[in-house]
Amino acid sequence: MPILRLAIATPLRRLFDYLPPVDLDDDAVAALSPGCRVLAPFGARQVCGVLIAVAEETEVPSDKLRPALDILDTTPLVSAPVLALCQWAAEYYRHPAGEVLAAAFPGGLRRGKSSAADTELVWQLSERGRGLPDGALRNAPRQAELLAALQQWGAVSWERLKDAGHSTPTRRSLVQKGLIEDTRRPIEPGEPRWREGPPLSPEQAAALDAVNSGQFASYLLHGVTGSGKTEVYLKLVERALAAGRQALLLVPEIGLTPQLAERLARRFDAEIAALHSGLADGAREAAWEAARSGRAHIVIGTRSAVFASLARPGLIVVDEEHDASFKQQDGFRYSARDLAVKRGQLEKVPVVLGSATPSLETLQNALAGRYQHLRLSKRIGDSQLPGVDILDIRKLPLRGGLSEGLLQAVAGELDAGNQALLFLNRRGFAPTLQCHDCGFIANCRHCDARLTLHRAAGELRCHHCEWRMPLPDRCPSCNSRALNARGVGTEQAEAVLRERFPDYSIHRVDRDSMQKRGAMATLMDTVNRGEPCILLGTQMLTKGHHFPGVTLVGLLDTDAALFSADFRGPERMGQLVTQVAGRAGRAERPGRVILQTHYPDHPLLRTLLQQGYDNYAGQLLEERASLKLPPFGQLLMLRAEAASLDSAEQFLAELRQAADPGSAQLIGPLPSPMQRRGGRFRAQLLGLARNRSALQRLAVQLVSEAEASPSGKRLRWSLDIDPLES
Ligand code: ADP
Ligand code: ZN
Ligand code: ZN
Repeated sequence: MPILRLAIATPLRRLFDYLPPVDLDDDAVAALSPGCRVLAPFGARQVCGVLIAVAEETEVPSDKLRPALDILDTTPLVSAPVLALCQWAAEYYRHPAGEVLAAAFPGGLRRGKSSAADTELVWQLSERGRGLPDGALRNAPRQAELLAALQQWGAVSWERLKDAGHSTPTRRSLVQKGLIEDTRRPIEPGEPRWREGPPLSPEQAAALDAVNSGQFASYLLHGVTGSGKTEVYLKLVERALAAGRQALLLVPEIGLTPQLAERLARRFDAEIAALHSGLADGAREAAWEAARSGRAHIVIGTRSAVFASLARPGLIVVDEEHDASFKQQDGFRYSARDLAVKRGQLEKVPVVLGSATPSLETLQNALAGRYQHLRLSKRIGDSQLPGVDILDIRKLPLRGGLSEGLLQAVAGELDAGNQALLFLNRRGFAPTLQCHDCGFIANCRHCDARLTLHRAAGELRCHHCEWRMPLPDRCPSCNSRALNARGVGTEQAEAVLRERFPDYSIHRVDRDSMQKRGAMATLMDTVNRGEPCILLGTQMLTKGHHFPGVTLVGLLDTDAALFSADFRGPERMGQLVTQVAGRAGRAERPGRVILQTHYPDHPLLRTLLQQGYDNYAGQLLEERASLKLPPFGQLLMLRAEAASLDSAEQFLAELRQAADPGSAQLIGPLPSPMQRRGGRFRAQLLGLARNRSALQRLAVQLVSEAEASPSGKRLRWSLDIDPLES
């Protein structure tokens, strides 16, 4: 008896065996392909699983074996390479295959909704209509004309018939007579066309030539901002399209980075499908189907688009590959960038990772020759990369985090008709509310974190859980009215700038001000009209935007990053500073960058500013190598969250006790950097291994112990392979 082996979205790390549905004959079972969805009983529920394999035997005792209920698809909904990718990811991340596969479907299809496939409704002659003698319907000339049109055109959409002047009543009459009928047929992909781009610079041309289409290899396209990386992507896409293939481009956040999508739309007269979480279910499904059917020539999407099936894949691009948003931080903790490389291997297509500030992992892969290192060292045209001036703010008075020197520089640019961009990676008015009389600090009730003061909203908010409370007017501890805002957030800097520059527009860009869909695109349009203005914002401003009118970039406060407890802190700081600085002087106007700091002599800062990101990254790599930290060692983190720190730590201590790490090293249990978050206490166990296989062995052990442990059932635990936060 053949056995259907299904992946079902449950927390259990295994596949589930079923008998074929009772009404399915042997031939139909033999014809089943992996990747089809199957409806099956699961406990008292019915679930929609994905067929992974048809097996010949099972370990499930025959009295426990139940038949599946229905096969939902006649052809696989997930392409074979994506199915293989999901299985690989389930192994690699030690995550339940059913949950991994759930990431490969849009919501409705995941729940078992029938696939609309990528079809369109067309009209054609029925059998009776085809058999009609010449000259029939002489008394109904309109109907005769419509019949003649269908005779000539075959099956066509109603749109086309309507354009030719046929009316709905005519159609209805013919349907009533049984002479015509509607049917669905796959939408034919159109012929993509594109406009000629600018002639490539020698470096761009060399990069383009180096990429071998039609076979797998990974490339790092490493070029400073404005060096023409996007132009190289466009040429690669063109090449894929010319070969009749599809291109998949992954970007950090579409809402924040509409730029690439816009440039694609301008260059290509082709079907472009966008896949991201901001879409309504229907739109997401339509885009997903267009990718799968091959009708979409270009698919651009965020993280989860790495799982979108493509009928004719030809190219995978990961733009801003260093961006942390490619890593999912909860549930199924995968790296879309790493999976993109794996996918390229499975699909046999080139994978291009692009960045001005590559992650140390990717850079090391390039330096070690695993990825081909393609460099674009110069900006396009005459535009110069701005130098960075350090502004030593020790002892200087600051207003809203701004020194007089920086304010004057801003004034100078505005007066000259230019734009200024100010970067402060903290939203809200102030990160701390403190009582001047007793020292009380407003903390979150559920987290080990301070509450951020949001003055406009009159609230204190926790940025780690969703907790908020009205702004108190007296100290809860001593009843004093002397409550002071400490530290500076964007809201406060904005207030100071408005006071100082009442005649100029000031655009604040952070998660609070950019909540509306499309807000970023609207802002970009406004700013790129070129009137002098100030852009003030958080990390959101660093994400791949081009602001050609910006001639001054000011970094208000990046000092905290110099002393980060996380070993990735310096890497992130280098990327952030370089990315922000790269926003200035893109076009013909030279730019200038001013960095305010209390530590002008800090060695990290000096290396970064004097020698540039690449040398800085090289130095960080040496440090990582000597400490055997990633990318020279492999890391995993097992985190437990419980009602008390004790139970979290005890559970992890049990695991550690039981584990035989071999050559790998276990560190902890330790309280997590933020011990209490959202009311739960968190502790973690870190595993550090020399190589992947040692890490995998350790991961397998830890997970099977955690699954078997009775205390594991009483708390939440999760495994993060290649964690970005530690
Ligand atoms: P990056 O993606 O590295 O930031 P872009 O591809 O956006 O760089 O290029 C920066 C600017 O230079 C853009 O305005 C782009 O249109 C222009 N550009 C890129 N390549 C060329 C080229 N070969 N000739 C002329 N202009 C170019
Ligand atoms: Zn007080
Ligand atoms: Zn909180």
